[in-house]
Amino acid sequence: MTATSASGAAASAARTAGATVYGYPRQGQNRELKKAIEGYWKGRTDAETLRRTAAELRRTTWQQLADAGLHEVPTGDFSYYDHVLDTSVMVGAIPDRHRAAVDADPLDGYFAMARGTQDVAPLEMTKWFDTNYHYLVPELGPDTVFTADPGKQAAELTQALALGHTPRPVLLGPVTYLLLAKPAPAAAPDFEPLTLLDRLLPVYAEVLADLRACGADWVQLDEPALVQDRSPAELNAAARAYRDLGALTDRPKLLVASYFDRLGEALPVLAKAPVEGLALDFTGPAAAQVDDLAAVGGLPGKRLVAGVVDGRNVWINDLEKSLATLGTLLGLADRVDVAASCSLLHVPLDATAERGLDPQIARWLAFARQKTAEIATLARGLTRGTDTITAQLAANRADLASRSGSPLTHDPAVRSRAAAVTDADTRRSQAYPERAAAQRERLRLPLLPTTSIGSFPQTGELRTARADLRAGRLGPDAYEQRIEAEIREVVAFQEKTGIDVLVHGEPERNDMVQYFAEQLTGYLATQHGWVQSYGTRYVRPPILAGDIARPQPMTVRWTTYAQSLTERPVKGMLTGPVTMLAWSFVRDDQPLADTARQVALALRDEVNDLEVSGSSVIQVDEPALRETLPLRSAGHPAYLAWATEAFRIATGGASPGTQIHTHMCYAEFGDILRAIDDLDADVISLEAARSHMQVADELAGAGYPREVGPGVYDIHSPRVPGTQEAIALLRKGLGAIPAERLWVNPDCGLKTRGWPEVRAALENLVAAAHEVRSTL
Ligand code: GLN
Ligand code: ZN
Repeated sequence: MTATSASGAAASAARTAGATVYGYPRQGQNRELKKAIEGYWKGRTDAETLRRTAAELRRTTWQQLADAGLHEVPTGDFSYYDHVLDTSVMVGAIPDRHRAAVDADPLDGYFAMARGTQDVAPLEMTKWFDTNYHYLVPELGPDTVFTADPGKQAAELTQALALGHTPRPVLLGPVTYLLLAKPAPAAAPDFEPLTLLDRLLPVYAEVLADLRACGADWVQLDEPALVQDRSPAELNAAARAYRDLGALTDRPKLLVASYFDRLGEALPVLAKAPVEGLALDFTGPAAAQVDDLAAVGGLPGKRLVAGVVDGRNVWINDLEKSLATLGTLLGLADRVDVAASCSLLHVPLDATAERGLDPQIARWLAFARQKTAEIATLARGLTRGTDTITAQLAANRADLASRSGSPLTHDPAVRSRAAAVTDADTRRSQAYPERAAAQRERLRLPLLPTTSIGSFPQTGELRTARADLRAGRLGPDAYEQRIEAEIREVVAFQEKTGIDVLVHGEPERNDMVQYFAEQLTGYLATQHGWVQSYGTRYVRPPILAGDIARPQPMTVRWTTYAQSLTERPVKGMLTGPVTMLAWSFVRDDQPLADTARQVALALRDEVNDLEVSGSSVIQVDEPALRETLPLRSAGHPAYLAWATEAFRIATGGASPGTQIHTHMCYAEFGDILRAIDDLDADVISLEAARSHMQVADELAGAGYPREVGPGVYDIHSPRVPGTQEAIALLRKGLGAIPAERLWVNPDCGLKTRGWPEVRAALENLVAAAHEVRSTL
């Protein structure tokens, strides 16, 4: 279907397509919200000022959205910290340990749940689906009593109505809320929060009635958990939830929203539900949902909100393609509105703020503000015909052509090299057993060798030095001397402590992805591209915009300097291809596998250069391997195939005597054990201290044949583990992994810790290794 026929369909049906979004970045143009909240925590801002700042930010956002041409604005998506935490408050799911603080002061109690206090632990934080946003995990148990607290939702709705907008409150849906929860500490570990659905629904009914009373015409209930693999029982629960909520008499119209993928078997369930509308994702792999929708007979009599503008990426939309999709969708529902695929929370605010970019390239970018304009343009084209948006279509066509024809996105040298990768390039020249023998011969390490994961404390002085360098207060030579001094200190400490395989400490790195992105061609850095990671923490992911090449070595200078100071091996330290992609905005004009392969080849050159300059041990970190696993298991095999291949391309050129390490954080490896083996690394270090070496058992159980360093020092806590504690963990590890293959190391890098703790903890760790060694 072409754009012309889309406009024809729109005209013949004389329909009006609306334009809307599900959520917007919360922080404000100059990160005002972050400043106000952190000011409140420090006692510099009072609660009233914080509330006023928040209300003003919402007012500005809604006004911008309305001015841009959206007919309906979201409310309730705003948050002081996190929308899942807001939902816990809305349904009264306050853990017992936070009850007193919430009763004493709701705002302080809210922040206590988010961040903990001196005496009380916060809620656990985890990733929101496969994004880099983190939410606070609800804690629910058989004793949980839900009570409706619609205050926040009602207040934002009322505020927007008073300003003359058409608001649509956005709530996290009851099924997803329960599926995202975990058993409360007092509940049985296998307690299933979804069993609380019947208790939760009346509370949602109350909230809905309240919002109706406040003047809501429509309410959106987000159910992104339904795009994941769901059991028949879970699908039944979804059917029951929307049958019951749909049957309520005193309620607004209901729009059930899904995003991040196709609904799959949940689509017929929701299509049949007695609700007035569905919002579906039609971007990327979810584009095929058009066919799914046709297959279930469309949504007769219902409103369809069509997420055709990618809400998770930073690229301009292909407007003509979207108009064609929308044209098809017009025949499948009673009314079609245009939207982004998900909340715009996951993209930065405004691409026009990026003055440092080549203006031509800047035109390829669409952040939240530009996406909003695209949505409004598409809605106008659909309603009034494409001849009313000819200028926008022409500009869009030109920008897309400039992107696809640019030397940045098409570097012939990079492309032909990637195309020429052979099977042999994806494998080390010898199998693991031969390599292990060669490495034993070369490295001559003791049993239970000790090492660390890479970073040492990133001190205030280091950060200041970097800021001074950027501001021109410190020259490049003085900065390098500062870094070298730090490396000397880190190496001296490790030698004195008796660590076997040293690291240089990563003092030169701001961040493990950004540091490399800045040195690779094809990557762009933004100045203002902040995205919320959690609470008031914002990150500026680099943009992987073009073909990736490595003009010169990136780490060799620091590793060789460190190596020049010691006889012991110093580990080279690189970030792996999957993690480079996972923590960046990636290009959408080629498969991820192709992008990963380009990054892998750049890293392969770095591995080679490290080897040539004398490195005998090189670590390639892949902490993101598990976290970018596709939401549906059907996508796992293909993802794991290209992800592990990229790692093997990066490391496959290393000679047999070079020991390749990898590192992963987070304890849940169960579903990627095969993939860990497929990396074909010689040594893997993983988080294990909190789970009492469980991962060692899992790896052993799966027959993992290589060397393993399950962490014996939990670096997420300022606590210093004693020698006896580390000994106990090591003995546990030895129960699963033979001494010839067991390493002794912390759980993760030490950059967030202070020197005093790190010193004591590593000394204890070495003492523990010596003690256990002497008994072998
Ligand atoms: N080498 C990195 C460091 O030590 C690894 C960080 C990570 O696993 N997230 O900081
Ligand atoms: Zn880690």
